[in-house]
Amino acid sequence: MKAVVFTLGCKVNACESASLMQGLYELGYEVSDKLSYADLYILNTCAVTKEAEKKSRQAISRIRSFNENAKIIVTGCASQRDPEVFLNKEGVYLVTGAINKDKIISLLSCNGIFLETEDRYYEKYLPYGQLKTRCYVKVEDGCNNFCSYCIIPYLRGRCRSRSVESIKNELNNLTAKEAVITGINLSAYNYNGMDLADLIESLQNYDLRIRLGSLEESVISDKLLLATQKLKDFAPHFHLCLQSGSSKVLKDMNRHYDRNEFMDCIKKVREVYPDCAITTDIIVGFPTETENDFEETLNLCKEVDFSDIHCFVFSPREGTVAYKLPKLSSQITDERLNRLMEVKRQSKLKFVNKFIGRELSVLIEEEKDGYFEGYTQNYIRCYIKSQSLSGIKKVKVLQPFKDGALCEVLD
Ligand code: SF4
Repeated sequence: MKAVVFTLGCKVNACESASLMQGLYELGYEVSDKLSYADLYILNTCAVTKEAEKKSRQAISRIRSFNENAKIIVTGCASQRDPEVFLNKEGVYLVTGAINKDKIISLLSCNGIFLETEDRYYEKYLPYGQLKTRCYVKVEDGCNNFCSYCIIPYLRGRCRSRSVESIKNELNNLTAKEAVITGINLSAYNYNGMDLADLIESLQNYDLRIRLGSLEESVISDKLLLATQKLKDFAPHFHLCLQSGSSKVLKDMNRHYDRNEFMDCIKKVREVYPDCAITTDIIVGFPTETENDFEETLNLCKEVDFSDIHCFVFSPREGTVAYKLPKLSSQITDERLNRLMEVKRQSKLKFVNKFIGRELSVLIEEEKDGYFEGYTQNYIRCYIKSQSLSGIKKVKVLQPFKDGALCEVLD
């Protein structure tokens, strides 16, 4: 029996899908994460934007084009938000929502679907494909922040953190060279009084490159930065979610910091890691965003020189506070998005240019179109012409290339 776990959305979803794949594998399924012919499909959906929800629904027809008799299980945020829309689709056998994602493996055998007496929660399974060079380790789920535009706390529930022991158990069994510590709201990690800094501090003996997933500015403290410095191989890459450069819009978004606090946080990080990558998320066209507010965002981005910016147009999510606010026209949001994309392009290039002629270490991940590709600790995607490469290599940065840099190997 073959099973495909098809995933949309965030790194946490990808991480959960990898655990589901391992659970299926241990039940005897041949597993894949690519859409192809299978007997069973698990569709792990996303609801972060309207577009993500649409893609989640459309995936059902894509699945059925491979095997119209297959059983389809729909899980994840879009199925939590609107289970009916999936239940009404042909071929859909079960809709679990996000909350019951961890029950899926209990419901399966390799011959079909039945209820086992013993619970086999998927999160007990180490992620499938852990031989990959880089893997995501989920340490937290849920969020208590209720940003006014975000549906996630309603779909994934409140924060809960994984025990340090179970995280270490996963790390002990990894053969990947890099672990990305991730969560829906990683900054809120707290297990029996141990916060994120304590967790990182407890990982100092691992011979792994350790990277952190998305962070809120409030979590950046001397204690956290010190904990990262104690790691054997910390990847100095901070994804700090900004969302807007206007303090007024941040307040409307129910984000709990202002422009100045965000800038102080950038300064603090750069004092410790001058060459680090700082990436961010920006929402363009929040309903109360004026032209002046948007200019403030652009100016902040230019001042910070992010090494990358994930730009999103505001997407109204029913059930959130911002849903009820009058929307900006698509003409305004598209025009602002284009301007932000140009700032992103320039600052990304500036970051790469800063390292030309310098030596960096790259974890080789794959070979494509004649180049070996991988990321530096500070998240520059490197392209290297070579006969064969693997592991972590010292490289010299030659010039900007594609979405990163062309490099040559030094050792
Ligand atoms: S911090 Fe805000 S944007 Fe992030 S998941 Fe929580 S509510 Fe959503």
